[in-house]
Amino acid sequence: QRRDPNEIEFQEAVFAVLDSLEPTLTANPQYVDDNLLARLVEPERVIQFRVPWESDDGKFHVNRGFRVQFNSAIGPYKGGLRLHPTVNLSIVKFLGFEQILKNSLTGLPIGGAKGGSDFDPKGKSDAEVMRFCQSFMTELQRHIGPDLDIPAGDIGVGAREIGYLFGAYKRLQGYQNGVLTGKGLTFGGSLARTEATGFGLLYYTNAMIKAQGDSLAGKTIKISGAGNVAIYATQKAEELGAKVVTVSDSNGYIYDPHGIDYKIVKQIKEVERGRISEYAKRVSTAEYREGSVWDLDIKYDVALPCATQNEIDQKQAEIIARDGAKYICEGANMPSNAAAINVYQENGILYGPGKAANAGGVAVSALEMSQNSERLSWTFEKVDDYLKEIMEDIFAQSEAADKKYHLDKNYQAGANIAGFEKVAEAMTAQGLI
Ligand code: NDP
Repeated sequence: QRRDPNEIEFQEAVFAVLDSLEPTLTANPQYVDDNLLARLVEPERVIQFRVPWESDDGKFHVNRGFRVQFNSAIGPYKGGLRLHPTVNLSIVKFLGFEQILKNSLTGLPIGGAKGGSDFDPKGKSDAEVMRFCQSFMTELQRHIGPDLDIPAGDIGVGAREIGYLFGAYKRLQGYQNGVLTGKGLTFGGSLARTEATGFGLLYYTNAMIKAQGDSLAGKTIKISGAGNVAIYATQKAEELGAKVVTVSDSNGYIYDPHGIDYKIVKQIKEVERGRISEYAKRVSTAEYREGSVWDLDIKYDVALPCATQNEIDQKQAEIIARDGAKYICEGANMPSNAAAINVYQENGILYGPGKAANAGGVAVSALEMSQNSERLSWTFEKVDDYLKEIMEDIFAQSEAADKKYHLDKNYQAGANIAGFEKVAEAMTAQGLI
């Protein structure tokens, strides 16, 4: 707080983790003696740079680029790039910090990082996005590499942007297949990477529900967002026998009590790059309303926020509790603020935090790195099987920590502790780093 008084999101993420580490710190006093927490919350490196670019009308613009290389104790830096007007150092640091524990939970050897820019790709032409990506990579290329730091996508960075970034890197540094993940399938991408975060979220949610002797089949689900995570979460939910009744964007949401057809959302968002309000024009049982989907009062069982940070506040969490939802698992990063999480706990809503529930994306990114090193492409089924195994293992690790420290089904604390213990052990073994 003293060093970064204005970094509200970063502080929020750090306090949420530190609060839950008490049981492991009591059991492992050496981490306190070694001042490990102070080292953990300080990024190894922060890179900030100017990104000048030219719009189609010949005007010059400048945005701010970031890469926070947070922790490399268990492997090379790994984490996405976000392009959104709200991106600033606090947001990138919060995401990078969360990424350390998330990557640790996957069981794969990857450290934590995050980056991005306050550039808004919405409404820009392909040529403008390409020129921005080329300028962004002109600086970023100095700091990344297949064994050093491997960026991927996040909000505003999908297949198109990764393609432009990869092409720009190649011109500057030569061909290095493994320098970015989320690549197109024709140049080293992995099958199932596009689906990974959404599918993984459902594998995790399914594991959590099963552990309670309950079943996902037949459940009604509310999803927010209509982007990469939301679309494939909707698809997998349907495949597992549940019904998704909402999707949203930053203007409003669609509610269809008969169930959302993910193929139509995919067409609108991925192909036409349109707004979600379009959906109601194509499906007669669906209605579009402005505002937040979390203000909609309906009876349902499972909440899956898949849009953005802090989308659920205390009041909306109270609506979730009142509506009878029993499970909330986060596809987005930190969509629930601290007060909302308290409401879940007070009302016995079982809570799967983003760093555990949405780790499927980065897990398959790491599998993409493995395929690139092997010069092989695995089948969709092979990658999907790995993903399922990893997500079930993440739930199992969180549950094991929960049981070990008698946390009473606090899977948030369980995930934080399980992710932290591995990183802490690696940092300790490597001396004063
Ligand atoms: P996309 O850019 O594909 O989609 C984001 C969606 O969320 C869009 O529908 C967007 O609507 C909506 N949204 C953004 N801001 C708001 C807001 N303030 N209120 C309501 N809706 C909003 O991003 P992703 O699906 O990739 O990412 C979604 C979340 O999941 C993020 O928190 C991301 O960090 C996290 N995540 C993503 C992973 C991935 O593999 N993609 C991996 C792990 C986590 P609009 O078009 O109006 O902006």
